[in-house]
Amino acid sequence: MTAHFDTIIIGGGLLGCATAWMIAREGGRVLLLERDQINQHASGSNAGSLHFQLEYRMIEGGLDKARKAAEAMPLHLDAAELWADLPRLTAEPIVVKQTGGLMIAETADQVRLLEQKTEIERAWGLDNRMIDRAGIERIAPYLSDRVIAAAHCTTEGKADARTAGPAFARAALAAGAHIRTRSEVRALSRRGRGWSVVAGSDESPQTLQADTVVIAAGVWTTRMGQMMGADLPTIPLALMMTVTQRMAPLIGHLVQHAGGRLSLKQALDGNILIGGGWPARLLRDAEGTPDFDAKPQLEASSLAGNARIAMGVLPRLAGVPALRSWVGTTTITPDQLPLVGPVPGCPGAFVATGGSAFTLGPSFAQALAALVAGRQPLTDLRSFDPARYAKG
Ligand SMILES: Cc1cc2nc3c(=O)[nH]c(=O)nc-3n(C[C@H](O)[C@H](O)[C@H](O)COP(=O)(O)OP(=O)(O)OC[C@H]3O[C@@H](n4cnc5c(N)ncnc54)[C@H](O)[C@@H]3O)c2cc1C
Repeated sequence: MTAHFDTIIIGGGLLGCATAWMIAREGGRVLLLERDQINQHASGSNAGSLHFQLEYRMIEGGLDKARKAAEAMPLHLDAAELWADLPRLTAEPIVVKQTGGLMIAETADQVRLLEQKTEIERAWGLDNRMIDRAGIERIAPYLSDRVIAAAHCTTEGKADARTAGPAFARAALAAGAHIRTRSEVRALSRRGRGWSVVAGSDESPQTLQADTVVIAAGVWTTRMGQMMGADLPTIPLALMMTVTQRMAPLIGHLVQHAGGRLSLKQALDGNILIGGGWPARLLRDAEGTPDFDAKPQLEASSLAGNARIAMGVLPRLAGVPALRSWVGTTTITPDQLPLVGPVPGCPGAFVATGGSAFTLGPSFAQALAALVAGRQPLTDLRSFDPARYAKG
């Protein structure tokens, strides 16, 4: 039995669900295929930070690397606007709080780095400005007096990662999209002017046809590319997060650090979420290939390092019990810029992944919806072209 769709989307994380919604609301006949359950992987286990400033991993390698990473700023700016409007546009109760973000500094070197970073971001149009110790005392008195300055970006904030992906899935269904969970894509091949997609269980695979295919498969992106004979290079990262017991409302901002890995925020129900890119251990097979189906393992040194930096800047955390720590796997790319655009050598196939794809998911989805419709995306995607690595 075969069925024909305008677009088949592979992956039911935040990106796949947002893309399905955006295509369906334009009238596209779209099918989303998810191997497991909606939001089961990175999209449901991340920190929910909406960070539009360059993150620590983008500035730790020096200013040239920061300048390169800043080429994604148009996607950040789109995302900042989109997130603010998503509850209205989707008619779903997506929890979004854009109450501002602070990237903090404890040393003169970190202050200089923040000043240079802020200058780069402002040149791209991000509303990010330096505040001094007096400014910190005014808007973030909860921070330690070791913090001497910060970059303050008013549009940053948080969204609830547990509910945002499913909200997009419901909006997609309401707009007419089809969604199949427990439906793994097993083969992809070019057929006529479109694509043939084999999906489903071992016992009852089904062949589906589509004019266009969208890969929204997170850490499985490279594997999907291999199925199509295309090179989609990504670097997998296993990361960990910790959540504490509830506290009375204290922290209104997303807090990051210019000198180390930290993201810190207070969820609406009062728990403090602590992360920022501390590694967990990705399991690998005998050949060294990462096994994304096995849960990464927590690293005690990461737990300790994350707790140390968090308590250093937020003294009130000392004595607040941690409820649980968990791990998840995500992707970055060698140049820290996302992959967004046509799959090289595969007409009618498009991909997006890389970096903070929770924050940037709505911008990626907007670009993908334009590409499948044959429109020029609003944002110039040349810096994110998946073919750039092949081109050297
Ligand atoms: C611990 C942690 C904290 C993070 N914190 C943040 C943060 O604060 N802010 C931020 O912006 N980003 C953060 N990230 C990154 C962010 O979570 C990811 O970039 C984002 O969720 C990726 O979304 P996605 O939809 O592209 O991928 P995923 O959520 O991974 O979804 C991909 C889906 O594709 C499916 N799939 C794969 N192969 C197949 C197949 N063959 N057939 C069918 N389906 C398939 C998978 O089952 C999966 O559900 C964090 C990541 C981690 C792990």
